[in-house]
Amino acid sequence: MSAPSHIVVIGAGIIGLSVARALLRDGHSVTVIDRDPAGDKASFGNAGGLGVTEILPAAAPGLIWRIPKWLADPLGPLSLRPAHLPHLLPWLARFLRSGTAAETTRIAGALAALLAPVYDDMLSLLEELSLTTDLHRVGALWVYDTEAGFQRDAPAHAMRRRHGIEVETISAAEARRLEPALAPMSARAVVTPQWSHVSDPKRIVDRLREQLLARGVAMLPLEATGIEGRAVVTAQGDRVAFDTLVVAAGAWSGRIARTVGDPVLIESERGYNATLPSPGVTLSREVIFAERQFVATPLAIGLRIGGAAEFAGLDAKPNFRRSDALVTLARRYLPDLDPRGAVRWMGHRPATPDSLPVIGRSRRRGDVVYAFGHGHLGLTLGPTTGRLVADIAIGRAPSVDLSPFSVARFA
Ligand SMILES: Cc1cc2nc3c(=O)[nH]c(=O)nc-3n(C[C@H](O)[C@H](O)[C@H](O)COP(=O)(O)OP(=O)(O)OC[C@H]3O[C@@H](n4cnc5c(N)ncnc54)[C@H](O)[C@@H]3O)c2cc1C
Repeated sequence: MSAPSHIVVIGAGIIGLSVARALLRDGHSVTVIDRDPAGDKASFGNAGGLGVTEILPAAAPGLIWRIPKWLADPLGPLSLRPAHLPHLLPWLARFLRSGTAAETTRIAGALAALLAPVYDDMLSLLEELSLTTDLHRVGALWVYDTEAGFQRDAPAHAMRRRHGIEVETISAAEARRLEPALAPMSARAVVTPQWSHVSDPKRIVDRLREQLLARGVAMLPLEATGIEGRAVVTAQGDRVAFDTLVVAAGAWSGRIARTVGDPVLIESERGYNATLPSPGVTLSREVIFAERQFVATPLAIGLRIGGAAEFAGLDAKPNFRRSDALVTLARRYLPDLDPRGAVRWMGHRPATPDSLPVIGRSRRRGDVVYAFGHGHLGLTLGPTTGRLVADIAIGRAPSVDLSPFSVARFA
């Protein structure tokens, strides 16, 4: 094992901060660089779910045939800005390749292994932050509008069961007994008891950042533009020296990896939500509207209706009509929903085409470690990723086979 050293982490989202925490535990001195450490980010406004059942790649078999219908529907889950299409094509080509039966099986195995220790790692973090009561281990309810939609998901649920994930099929009437606020319009439902949600993802990230500051982590409000020798170069003209660098800059990480010489396929899969402070309905668990691809999570700050996948790049302005569309859709399922005071939000999911994060060393430099690309699972996988990166940094054998997550797959 190597000796503790000075480690710079780029990114103060849930991934970067979890990495910083794990490195600190190993005795390293840690500096975090973020253009706005306490500013808005995907890690704040996400749906708050610990999706430990989510082992299937987004490019599920058969998905391609549903894309035209989704794109044509103004309330649909997918949108694409035409100007972004040329940039997206290489990512899209790789995305479609990830939907074959063989790839789905391989990816599901890799994600199942990575997700297995999530609760151990998350509970350890929440205990340290005195936030254990913010974790609600009450499962999730998936509702299906049609029998056909339920049957379409059957192979995915079968794959989950093969990996030991509990998926219980229940009737629509039982679903309404669990969540009486639901309109009587679902055909089928399933319950995934291992799913859980938190009271407010932002509260976890804020408290973690404050605790790290109190424990001596330097948090520099700088924008990294590249790497020269053993220093991060910033837009402000500073050079921040490191022994080891961890890139945990969410959807922006590809830009930094390219300056190191590692090609990466990563896109911003822009997601939207609306948080309703006085929703007028009560849900006791996260509800997943499986065919419409959106969720409703009962957070401490209100009911968060979230979803959508918009491919428009990192710099286009948000289209908050997508948040409004989610509320319109949710009112079909939750007729008493009160949308007044809705807070609209957009965030950048760091999406790789194979739905696997990048966790591991650069191909070009032994002193650069990557921790990004967590897509829909960044909150879920934050503390686990932190622990694995600390293992890499100090030369300890990681508890999970990290080869499926190597950046080399994009070479
Ligand atoms: C609508 C929506 C719903 C979601 N729901 C869930 C959910 O229920 N469960 C779940 O597990 N996940 C969910 N996610 C995904 C999750 O939010 C992300 O995977 C996760 O937040 C990514 O964390 P991160 O730390 O990698 O990135 P971020 O939170 O985006 O943080 C990256 C940080 O890097 C900084 N940065 C970037 N570039 C630079 C640079 N050059 N120099 C300095 N700083 C830089 C940014 O300022 C930012 O602070 C959801 C996402 C969205 C959008």
